[in-house]
Amino acid sequence: MILYNTLGQKKMEFVPHEGNKVNMYTCGPTVYHYAHIGNLRTYIMEDVLEKYLRYSGYDVKRVMNITDVGHLTSDADTGDDKMVEGAKREHKTVMEIAKFYTDAFFEDCKKLNIKTPDVVEPATNCIDDFIAMVQKLVDDGYAYVAGGNVYFDTSKLDNYYVFGNMNADDLEVGVREDVDSDENKRTKTDFVLWFTKSKFEDQALKWDSPWGVGYPGWHIECSSISIKHLGEYLDIHCGGVDNAFPHHTNEIAQSEAFLGHKWCNYWFHVLHLNDARGKMSKSKGEFLTVSLLEEKGYNPLVYRMFCLQSHYRKPLTFSFESLDNTVKAYDKLTKRIASLKNDGEVDTAKAEELDKKFREAMDNDLNTSLGLTAVYDVLKADTNDATKRYIIEKFDTVLGLGLTSIQEEKQDDIGAEIEALIAQRQEARAAKDWATADKIRDELLARKIKLIDTPDGVKWEYTE
Ligand code: AMP
Ligand code: ZN
Repeated sequence: MILYNTLGQKKMEFVPHEGNKVNMYTCGPTVYHYAHIGNLRTYIMEDVLEKYLRYSGYDVKRVMNITDVGHLTSDADTGDDKMVEGAKREHKTVMEIAKFYTDAFFEDCKKLNIKTPDVVEPATNCIDDFIAMVQKLVDDGYAYVAGGNVYFDTSKLDNYYVFGNMNADDLEVGVREDVDSDENKRTKTDFVLWFTKSKFEDQALKWDSPWGVGYPGWHIECSSISIKHLGEYLDIHCGGVDNAFPHHTNEIAQSEAFLGHKWCNYWFHVLHLNDARGKMSKSKGEFLTVSLLEEKGYNPLVYRMFCLQSHYRKPLTFSFESLDNTVKAYDKLTKRIASLKNDGEVDTAKAEELDKKFREAMDNDLNTSLGLTAVYDVLKADTNDATKRYIIEKFDTVLGLGLTSIQEEKQDDIGAEIEALIAQRQEARAAKDWATADKIRDELLARKIKLIDTPDGVKWEYTE
């Protein structure tokens, strides 16, 4: 499989460290509010990546953290803790907020067919691990204490900006950092590993540490949780593109300083979902959630398809108008799949040929829109329905659009509805009510359903 790697900024062949085992890490949600559909674009594309790696035969272990402490309102080390902000907003404790929004996040994931990672680890479970990691960085001369906080010393690294060119979003963080400069930092790019009470008196959750009572910085949690569950070598690390700098850059700095060798080979970043106001973000106040889409009558899987129609490395602009186009495409596609019959043996040679097309698309930097085209190609293919159904079911283990489950439901529903109309038509004919009988026949014909008189009664089939 070829993947674009932010580390090196080009497409590369994906080769894991050890045989067919893949260690995969994903930055999890900051659970101070509902996830918006922008966050969920990132989780959908990461889910497709994980499922496609499994589809390709890799044995994937995926770990995700839950950020329930340490993420400040700016990605640089300024502002309040986001969790404290959420607790203040809702007059609840930080842990109540964390529990509520963690549950809400996984409910959204379930609706979007996003698999729960093998390990989900809240940051507050791992404070001792963070302290041990920070201690080693201090002992090895990579970190220093100033004004009560522990900072990572970026001047100790030959190449801090590992991802090279920073984009406009990244530079914005840099500017904010300049404005709010922290006098304790020796170098502008240094970042906090451990805060003590000297910085935030009102921090709700605090732990004892060798540097005083305080709490961890945001970046340390991902390095520590990843190393704890996946060991010293990580194959692939994922996140939204805003995470590349400073979050992932800092993760690499501290992990490699801690381990003494290269840590992660592939960095997978999903571009942002924008709306009319620009990047969708929780801090803007109003944002779109899965529940809101449902309230408006949208099937969450239509949103998943909307994401799959675009490449993950292109910014995606959301509008209800474009979502409505996806609704039409989704309905049409599922209806066509619903009409596939169980008509005999699967032609395995043909199935393999169709599978090859799907793999070609997905192997080329996870091209999901061409992956979807492969589904349409199956429908057009010169083979029996059983083969088509079999291969679409297989693709859907990656695409996760519920194409096959909806198919069964729909087929049952549609079948029952059509049988009822046929029965009504028979009644009308028995009563010599030809107008009603013809009306029902025309209605069915408009839906491309034709009726056939047989000795066993009236049967139906699709006209195309
Ligand atoms: P957060 O809950 O803020 O920590 O973000 C969770 C994930 O969503 C991270 O991987 C972010 O990079 C990603 N993310 C944030 N905003 C967007 C957006 N507008 N579009 C896509 N991904 C985003
Ligand atoms: Zn992270």
